[in-house]
Amino acid sequence: MLTTIIYRSHLHDHVSFKMLEEMVAAANIKNGRASVTGILLFNGTHFFQLLEGPEESVTAIYQDICGDDRHYNLVEVLRDYAPSRRFGKTGMELFDLRDHDREAVLQTVFDKGTTRYQLTYGDRALQFFQTFVEDSEKEFYYEIPPGDAWEFMADDNAITLPPGVPDSGADCHFAFQPIVDPFARQIVAVEALLRTRVGGSPQEWFDDMAGDDIYTADLQSKRVAFAMAAALKLGAQSLSVNLLPMTLVKVPGAAEFIVQAIKENGLIPEQVIVEFNESAVFSCLDAFTQAVKMLKGAGIRVAIDHFGAGFGGLVLLTQFQPDRIKINRALIADVHKSGSRQAIVQAIIKCCTSLEIAISAVGVEKAEEWMWLESAGISQFQGHLFAHPDLNGIPAVAWPEKRDEMV
Ligand code: C2E
Ligand code: MN
Ligand code: MN
Repeated sequence: MLTTIIYRSHLHDHVSFKMLEEMVAAANIKNGRASVTGILLFNGTHFFQLLEGPEESVTAIYQDICGDDRHYNLVEVLRDYAPSRRFGKTGMELFDLRDHDREAVLQTVFDKGTTRYQLTYGDRALQFFQTFVEDSEKEFYYEIPPGDAWEFMADDNAITLPPGVPDSGADCHFAFQPIVDPFARQIVAVEALLRTRVGGSPQEWFDDMAGDDIYTADLQSKRVAFAMAAALKLGAQSLSVNLLPMTLVKVPGAAEFIVQAIKENGLIPEQVIVEFNESAVFSCLDAFTQAVKMLKGAGIRVAIDHFGAGFGGLVLLTQFQPDRIKINRALIADVHKSGSRQAIVQAIIKCCTSLEIAISAVGVEKAEEWMWLESAGISQFQGHLFAHPDLNGIPAVAWPEKRDEMV
C-alpha cells in the first residue's frame, strides 16, 4: 500500500552541512533501492521530511531515521495512504530553504509533483509543506533535552499506614499516588486508588458485585479512603477520590454520605476532589450535572478523569465545567513524538485555560513526555515517572534533577 510519512526534527549542532550532504547522498541510494521518495526541507535548524513509497519500506526507513542521532526532537506529523505518488522520482532530494525565497521553494517542490489533483483538492501532505515553509507553527516546536538530561531522585518522604487501619466494614483498601508539580517540588494532591485487600485492581474489586451493588460499594469504599488518608496524616493536602457518576446519580444521599465521611475523619470538603470518568459522565450527562450540584454545594471540587479518552471530549465542557480535568494516558503516551497528540493536547490546554479549568496529565512514564507537557504549559503530573501507587501508603516522590547541574 502506498504510504506517506511526514516528520519534523531538529538537527544537532555538531552536524555540519557537509555531513548533511553526505547523508542525503547515502539516503538517495538507499531510498532508490527501496522505491521510496524522500523530500527533505531544511531551514537551518529543523528538518521536514516526506517519505513516500511501499508501506514496509517507508516504515523501515522511518525506523532507521528515528534512531539516527544526527537529529533529535523528531515528531511524526502525518501517516497517510494514497492511490498514487505525489512525487514520481524515487531517491532523496534536499531543499535548503535558506537558498530560496518561500514562494519559489514551494513551487519548486510542487513542480516535482506527478499529480496535480492533490494540490487542487487540498491534500494534507502538501498543506504540511506549506505550513513548514511559512514557519507558521514554529512556536509549537518545543525544544526538549534528551530524557537522560534528568535524573529522578526519590525523596525520603514515604508514609506507611499504621497497623490496624482501616477497620471499616467495606472490604477494600486503597493505594495512594501523588500528583506533583515537579518544578515547584510540590505534591499538589494525592489520589486514592481502590484496591482489593491483597492489592488487586479496582476492576477486580467491582467484578464480584452484581447490578446496582457496585454503586453502594463504590460510595461506601470512600469512607475507607478518607479514614486511610487521615491515618496517613494527610493534613491540609488535597485528596482525590474516584467515583462512578452513576454512584452519585443512583444512590440516594450520596453527596451527604461523602460529606459525612469526610468530616468524620477530620478532613474538610474543600480539600477533596471527586474524579469522574469522562465517558461514563457523558452517558448520563443531565442526571450527572444535577447530582454534581450537591457536591459543589458542599464545597467539594470535581474533576473529569480520562479526559480525551471517550466520546465526550471537548463538547462535554459546553454542558458542565469541572474544576479540573485529567488528560488521559492515551494522549500522553509518547506525546513528544506525535504531532496529532500534540495538537489535541494543545487544544485541550487552550480550552481549559480559557475556562480556568486546572489540568493534570496522568500516566506520565517518560521524562520526554513530562518535558514536552511542561513546555506546552502543564504543570501537574501523575505517573510512574514520579511515583507508583503505593498500597496502604503514600510513596516517596522521585523529583527530577538536571544532571549537568549536579556535578
Ligand atoms: P485513574 O483514576 O485514571 O487512576 C490512575 C490509574 O493509572 C491507576 O490505575 C494507576 O495505577 C495508573 N497509573 C498511574 N501512573 C501510571 C503510569 O505512569 N503508567 C500507567 N500505565 N498507569 C499509571 P488503577 O489504580 O488500576 O485504577 C484504574 C482506574 O480505576 C482509575 O483510573 C479509576 O478510574 C478507577 N478507580 C480507582 N479507584 C476507584 C474508586 O474508588 N471508585 C471507582 N468507581 N473507580 C475507581
Ligand atoms: Mn482518577
Ligand atoms: Mn486511568
